[in-house]
Amino acid sequence: MSLGSHGRTIDVHAHLTPQVLIRAKDAGRSLHGIDPTEIARGQGRSITIDERVADMDRLGEDIQVISAEPQMYCYQYGSSAAAAIHRECNDEVAEHVRARPDRFKGFAILPMQDVRAAIAELERAVRVLGLAGAMIGDHVNGTMYDDARFAPLWSVAEQLGAILFLHQASPTLVSSRIDRYHLSNTVGNPVERTLSFAALVFGGVIDAHPSLRFVLGHGGGYAPYAAGRMDWGWRWRAEARERVTRPPSEYLGRFHYDCITHSEAALRFLVDVAGIDRVVFGTDYPGFAAGKEGASYRPREWLESLERLTAAEKTSILGSNAERLFTRAS
Ligand SMILES: [Zn+2]
Repeated sequence: MSLGSHGRTIDVHAHLTPQVLIRAKDAGRSLHGIDPTEIARGQGRSITIDERVADMDRLGEDIQVISAEPQMYCYQYGSSAAAAIHRECNDEVAEHVRARPDRFKGFAILPMQDVRAAIAELERAVRVLGLAGAMIGDHVNGTMYDDARFAPLWSVAEQLGAILFLHQASPTLVSSRIDRYHLSNTVGNPVERTLSFAALVFGGVIDAHPSLRFVLGHGGGYAPYAAGRMDWGWRWRAEARERVTRPPSEYLGRFHYDCITHSEAALRFLVDVAGIDRVVFGTDYPGFAAGKEGASYRPREWLESLERLTAAEKTSILGSNAERLFTRAS
């Protein structure tokens, strides 16, 4: 659908529960040797392509960039089983893109516990399936992305022009401290993203790979708010400067961020510190509507209702920033 003066609305943060998982659960059989109920406890929502398009029309979205739900990361399992599962998930995302290239783009998931296998799947996803890049967790079984083992993957992603979308899987770091009140999600997701930003910046990954493009889900977590303190540490502590030559806040504008902050003040702050060209639209479909109350939430209407963003800024966030981001990727 055409959306008037805004141009196309592009949702970069939208998930899919793969049929491969749903079918294995329904049949009570394993998924490449792994119990599917161990991968994801809930049943997940089975959404056909037509149902998804109808939801997008209702929500005022032209394009969704689809990623499998993050429970499918399977980083804790053997890499050949994980890679086999990922191939099936990524094929399913690609089926959506092939069926409706006017409405869908896609992110792959990768067996990050085996960097060589992750590289192979990223190459297949981009070159063969035509996906835009990959969604990856904030850590791989506790290893963060400043670790040198990931350097070959960053180089390949850079060469392919692949976008890397950072998105946690549950449980987050917060659950081991306080596994109550849904804090693992509400506080944990932003905590995970803040650590990813810090590991990539302090670890020198952004300096070493100047063309590499990361999109940080959930508005980059607390990174925009925490960057001043990171600068403070960088200025006074030698170990903070081991691998990065400039203050961390200068790197805020090197990342992209989705707009999922649920706070006008936080989104305004993100735009101010990262730059208006760095923020793209995201919804977390279909999860945001998982509860009864969530069903009435309209992410695009929320964004359009904000008083502290100009019309031009809303246009940038809803689509034109992502148009540039994904044009470069293809
Ligand atoms: Zn999500």
